[in-house]
Amino acid sequence: MGEENVKNLKSEQGAALDSIDLQFKDIDAAYKTKSTWEIIRALVILRTCSYNYFVDNSVKFLGLSQRFLGRSLTDFVVKPTFYGHFVAGDTPESITSTVRKLKSGGVRPMLAVPMEEDVNENIPMDEKYGRNLSAILDCILLSRHVEESRPMMQLKVTALIPADLVAKLTILYNEEKITVEEIAAYMETGALVKNECLDEEELSQLHKGLDRLAQVGKLAVEKKVRVLVDAEYTYLNPGMSLVTLAMMVLYNKQTPWIWNTYQCYLKGALSSIRAELDVTKRHNVCFGAKIVRGAYMEKEKLLALNEQREDPINPSLDATGDMYNAVVNAMLEHIKDVGTKCNIIVASSNEGAVRTTIQRLDQLGIDPGEDSVCFGQLMGMADHVSFSLGSAGFPVYKSMPYGTLEDTIPYLSRRAQENRSVLQESLHEPFSLHEVLKRGNLSVNAQLLSGDPLVVHIFEATLEACG
Ligand SMILES: Cc1cc2nc3c(=O)[nH]c(=O)nc-3n(C[C@H](O)[C@H](O)[C@H](O)COP(=O)(O)OP(=O)(O)OC[C@H]3O[C@@H](n4cnc5c(N)ncnc54)[C@H](O)[C@@H]3O)c2cc1C
Repeated sequence: MGEENVKNLKSEQGAALDSIDLQFKDIDAAYKTKSTWEIIRALVILRTCSYNYFVDNSVKFLGLSQRFLGRSLTDFVVKPTFYGHFVAGDTPESITSTVRKLKSGGVRPMLAVPMEEDVNENIPMDEKYGRNLSAILDCILLSRHVEESRPMMQLKVTALIPADLVAKLTILYNEEKITVEEIAAYMETGALVKNECLDEEELSQLHKGLDRLAQVGKLAVEKKVRVLVDAEYTYLNPGMSLVTLAMMVLYNKQTPWIWNTYQCYLKGALSSIRAELDVTKRHNVCFGAKIVRGAYMEKEKLLALNEQREDPINPSLDATGDMYNAVVNAMLEHIKDVGTKCNIIVASSNEGAVRTTIQRLDQLGIDPGEDSVCFGQLMGMADHVSFSLGSAGFPVYKSMPYGTLEDTIPYLSRRAQENRSVLQESLHEPFSLHEVLKRGNLSVNAQLLSGDPLVVHIFEATLEACG
């Protein structure tokens, strides 16, 4: 079905299909919530992020800056620029203000607490996971506070269970030596998991981790916040699926509050999502899926090479695109049958993927207003996609990390490295921004007139660059 047909069939689907520009060329919709300063900032930052040298060394630059310029001066430079572009804020007030702006463009927040752990990290455990738990519980409350209609947030399982243990659970789950049912039983009744492949300390850590996840699940249901569990590396994902599926069994009885993430750069993405959907079908509970391409490609490839095993990543970008469309399509066909018992988010800045999904929604007669299918992009990226979708009434979210500069910059640097290709591709955004500037929308606004020399300097440099 062509795009014109989508537009012609729109009346049956409500406002959304009626007014979406599937070429995402509506500059006014895309940038209507942005001040001139924010447009210029986006132009400069996305260009900077396309330089490998900057992306590879950003954490080092920050460390050097803090050492030689001091924390205050570093904050003065980084907070209104890189941080302000990609991060929601570090206080409830600043986050609420960022969210308010987003929502004025029809885009909803999806908050994320930046916490990263990998195997072999030796940091004292109970205190660290206790702190992480309280930050995650706060995130549930904050998500509910800033978004009344359908709040969502992201969760990293490795923020609550040691990554080394999750890696071990991966092996056990792959070898069918541990089951979703025993994990769910512990979380529900306290019946201890007995597994001779895990030693006493590991079992104790497992039980503590599951207690933390149970607190998250209970509060999510109570506050009606959807919790989307992030996917990480292939040596962790099955272990994380094990506990996430157990949470689905316990907490998704009426509504999909707990979702898992499926990375379509993996050759096994379609079979994984089908297998996990089957688990929820067996337990007659709802299913939620965040569908992404995947952010850890370089390390996955390197690990496979070092371990002399088959590369788990699809052979080409096109193959990943085909996998993405196949996974989304399989879920849309399921939603056609079960309605709101299955929810998905098409978490991609790829215009083609968004377009294909919208066309398929139309073909299958799924009402976008039902919210079973929503869209997501990262804060600071693909605004033209997010705000075009938001303006047309589609449910669309921005993944928004929040926290202090120290907490978020390493996270953002890793995101930048993992998403280097996306950032480089995002250069088409500056071209749009360039057009915005050229179109004469460039009114020097109050922020510029505030006289901040850094702002005025960047403004002048940008004008020069734009000819
Ligand atoms: C709301 C949200 C939540 C997210 N959560 C997660 C998460 O939990 N886990 C996670 O891993 N990522 C997550 N991401 C990040 C996501 O994986 C990246 O944004 C994504 O990889 C970029 O894909 P794209 O569809 O936006 O862009 P595109 O530019 O269309 O695709 C780029 C991606 O294609 C893939 N690719 C590139 N080259 C090749 C190649 N040669 N062969 C095969 N594949 C290739 C890579 O995945 C690359 O990142 C999330 C993103 C969003 C918006």
